[in-house]
Amino acid sequence: MESQIQKLKSGMLADLKVATSEVEIKEVEVKYFGRQGLFGDIMKSLKDLSAEEKQTVGKAANMTKKELEGATGKRYAEVEHEKLSAIAEEEWMDVTVPGKKPSVGHRHLISKFIDDIEQVFAKMGFEMAEGPEIEKEYYNFDQLNIPETHPARDMHDTFWVKNLEKYVLRTHTSPVQIHYMEDHKPPIRVIAPGKTFRKDSDATHSPMFHQLEGLMVDTDISMANLKAVLTQALQQIFEDDSIKTRFRVSYFPFVEPGMEIDCTCPICKGNGKLGDGVPCRLCKQCGWLEIAGAGMVHPKVLKNVGLDPEKYTGFAFGMGLDRMIMIKYRINHLRLFFENDLRFIQQF
Ligand SMILES: [Zn+2]
Repeated sequence: MESQIQKLKSGMLADLKVATSEVEIKEVEVKYFGRQGLFGDIMKSLKDLSAEEKQTVGKAANMTKKELEGATGKRYAEVEHEKLSAIAEEEWMDVTVPGKKPSVGHRHLISKFIDDIEQVFAKMGFEMAEGPEIEKEYYNFDQLNIPETHPARDMHDTFWVKNLEKYVLRTHTSPVQIHYMEDHKPPIRVIAPGKTFRKDSDATHSPMFHQLEGLMVDTDISMANLKAVLTQALQQIFEDDSIKTRFRVSYFPFVEPGMEIDCTCPICKGNGKLGDGVPCRLCKQCGWLEIAGAGMVHPKVLKNVGLDPEKYTGFAFGMGLDRMIMIKYRINHLRLFFENDLRFIQQF
């Protein structure tokens, strides 16, 4: 009988050893100590023994049971520990390893440039204004003294809005002048950067492009003010104090006199060639770049918004923003601005 107990003990210890989960240990417990368990069989067979033997064997059986219960409890603890170790191993991390930064976007070069320009003009007392991109023909053309016969009204240049008579995608930022003068009395100092639209597409033209409009109206405003403001602004925008400007006579319906404004080439500093004698390609060796259209606000335009041209004068200018950015950052194709290629965009 005692050898049977011994056999049961070694059998259970061996089973416990290979039980690797709580469920498996539980199965071992049931196998030995359950209602139909092997230990029960031994206890049942005790009844056939003498009283003396019953006592001895019973005692031994109880001691063995206690021992085995202890061993079971220990195995439970071991398995729990192994489980936690496995989790710790799997989920281990080195908190000293540098983290991965999520990629964060930034403003587009054009938006950034517009902010910079706003700062430059703000220092000279200019406010910033906006106008609608879908504009009435009245503001885009009529109020700006652009006659019915002007080629700009031609179907080939202007995007007319379908099903909305007399509306266009604004072809320039100049209508903001009219909106602003309708709402504000002189003294006026305002810039209006924004999107403009024309049917035009090549290396230096895109159907959507950006302009910067400028307007200053007060008593005694002259071309000297225009020259001072634009020269200052261009020097600051291109971060180059040596920049000079020159005026060439030109024609725009909403100014009189009208002019094209050139500035000295910021790359060759107006020399037409670079330091090592290489010809400057940007200005095609002439040392000057066309940078803006400008002029004194036409008396008819002032009258259109209810200002007395005998009392007030003003200047207006319009610059191609995209072209200025291309010059400043040496960008050779306009399309790069709008393709959203991160390799390009992330350089700025
Ligand atoms: Zn040059």
